[in-house]
Amino acid sequence: MLTANDHYRSRFGCKMYKASISFAKTCPNRDGAKGTGGCIFCSAGGSGEFSSCIQKSIKEQIDDAILQVSKKAGPDAGYIAYFQSFTNTYCSPEELAKAMGEAISHPKIKALSIATRPDCLPEETVKLLEERAAKLPVYVELGLQTSSDETAKLINRCYETKEYADAVKRLKDAGINVITHVIFGLPKETEEQMLDTVRYCVEAGTDGIKFTCLYVLKDTVLEKMWKAGEFEVLGREEYFDIVEKAIKILPSDIVIHRLTGDGPKKLLLAPMWTADKRSVINYINRRFA
Ligand code: SF4
Repeated sequence: MLTANDHYRSRFGCKMYKASISFAKTCPNRDGAKGTGGCIFCSAGGSGEFSSCIQKSIKEQIDDAILQVSKKAGPDAGYIAYFQSFTNTYCSPEELAKAMGEAISHPKIKALSIATRPDCLPEETVKLLEERAAKLPVYVELGLQTSSDETAKLINRCYETKEYADAVKRLKDAGINVITHVIFGLPKETEEQMLDTVRYCVEAGTDGIKFTCLYVLKDTVLEKMWKAGEFEVLGREEYFDIVEKAIKILPSDIVIHRLTGDGPKKLLLAPMWTADKRSVINYINRRFA
């Protein structure tokens, strides 16, 4: 199993930390361009509740993020500017170029990671990312969640799965490292469908993968479905049984950036085991050491 730590150490020669940045303010799934209301699991913060305040400049946000981990990280650590919330390529290439330029000018930043959707990567944007990738490592994180178009409809993802495969190809041709986000436990999905998603990512050529257990946040459509008993969240053992099977599908050179995620505590309704980060880490260490 190739972990993100192993990958970063061999690529950068040091331990790397992510400095989360709030840059994008919305996504095409919220403003009506593709849909309204967003993906059914997504909170108002657009998957970026951990990042620093959007009113601050990018440099200030990076400084804040570094300060938070500096004791643990030490002076030799490197940092990745992580454009985390909403859809960070859902803007003009000029706006994105300016924001990335600000991040890169920070002396501690050694790489960029841009979270986005496959349907928000026009040629000019890919060209811009390619130009940046010629100067420093660029990762693009694509929210696929599932390869099933049926489930995609149910979760209101508002793009077809084939757009993901096309985006991976174009990004890789441009020399960009692709990380794919996958969710296990989406309503009505069987374990085989979840593992099919992993197979699909491998076939598409993703360089890395992030697994997350579906969690229910307050004030989302998913909350209503969960309260109506339309689906059940995965238990810890059940979730990591699926993760273990997924790992076996992955070729040894695909980097596993995350085995599970943890939702913002103030919004989390279920499953509550994901909130106990320390116990989850201990469990992962015991099971996957
Ligand atoms: S998950 Fe991403 S694409 Fe979906 S609503 Fe949230 S920010 Fe938009």
